[in-house]
Amino acid sequence: MARLVMKFGGTSVADIDRIRNVARHVKREVAAGHEVAVVVSAMAGTTNRLVDWCREAASLHDAREYDAVVASGEQISAGLLAITLESMGINARSWQGWQLPIRTSDAHGSARILEVNGAELIKRFKERGEVAVIAGFQGVHAETGRITTLGRGGSDTSAVAVAAAIGADRCDIYTDVDGVYTTDPRVVSKARRLDKIAYEEMLELASLGAKVLQVRSVELGMVHNVRIFVRSSFDEPDSIDPHAAPPGTFICGEEEIVEQQVVTGIAFSKDEAQISIRRVADKPGVAAAIFGPLADAGINVDMIVQNVSADGATTDLTFTVPAADYERATGVLNGARAKIGFERLDGATDVAKVSVIGVGMRSHAGVAAKAFKALAEHRINIRAITTSEIKFSLLIDANYTELAVRTLHSLYDLDK
Ligand code: ASP
Ligand code: MG
Repeated sequence: MARLVMKFGGTSVADIDRIRNVARHVKREVAAGHEVAVVVSAMAGTTNRLVDWCREAASLHDAREYDAVVASGEQISAGLLAITLESMGINARSWQGWQLPIRTSDAHGSARILEVNGAELIKRFKERGEVAVIAGFQGVHAETGRITTLGRGGSDTSAVAVAAAIGADRCDIYTDVDGVYTTDPRVVSKARRLDKIAYEEMLELASLGAKVLQVRSVELGMVHNVRIFVRSSFDEPDSIDPHAAPPGTFICGEEEIVEQQVVTGIAFSKDEAQISIRRVADKPGVAAAIFGPLADAGINVDMIVQNVSADGATTDLTFTVPAADYERATGVLNGARAKIGFERLDGATDVAKVSVIGVGMRSHAGVAAKAFKALAEHRINIRAITTSEIKFSLLIDANYTELAVRTLHSLYDLDK
């Protein structure tokens, strides 16, 4: 007997037929003797529609009321799944965030989970063999009693938090892909599904825009050591052995990965823009004068490269911002020009960031050097480089993104 959290995303509960399919997945696990808590997203498209309605009602609206509206999508899918399970002879009860409760901060629209009370769920597993169907994405701020939501994609985080709270043996994320891939299969046909990936690697991939999991859910999984599986909800429910290891990708601690490859995956993003500040004074306080106003404007700065000045007086500073914030960022910098003091601003929006990720880099030298050589052979110019312990990122011309990703994918033996 195992205790499981099964999480189903919006496409998996998009209509009543799909909800029935989800119920069959649940039935399989219940019949095998497992204790099951299900976490659901809103039916596909629902949250977008609710968000649009809020905007239509008033472009500036109270975040507390936004939450009251958008949290409703999950209430519907949780109720519908509970009804469907009951109709199949399975004991089930739906739960909204405030009912458990899932206590959160009061940052409406992007609240953080503080505590999940799983006691009642465990009691009902034991006494009635009851399946808990929990509305994802939502919680409650205890002091005000108001409904909160966790930010887009937040049901993943709900699922991992519930798994930690009830001490689940596994948190299965059922989604419309069958796992996590070495890179985007639409770009590299030889991309492979990974059997295992370390939390830290998944965190990098998710932060770089892989949409499989909300970043916060991976952080939470890492802190609480929740065993997370990413798997397909479109597998035939009855073709799966509920006693075997699940098909899909296992997100786990590094120590559980025995045959560690040096590089695990390659991510890329075309949503970056480059800004170079030319001949800025090379003296204390300049970086603060540049990045302070950008931070105040809520603009996220990613790669930062600064040269050591040759003449001791001025230097160049290059960094990237989200492409959507490019105009705003150059506006802010030009506005602060007198205070910063620079000769000129150069920028480019037709750039892409390609990142190579692997915890194996910690113990291997020359991993990045290999990439530089391979890209040079394809005459791909590198504009900026940043590195961390388990990742390096290269800024290149956007035109070369696919070529670079394919080249690196085969260079690090990910093709086979
Ligand atoms: N329904 C919410 C959203 O669309 C939460 C989720 O699906 O995880 O963002
Ligand atoms: Mg999602």
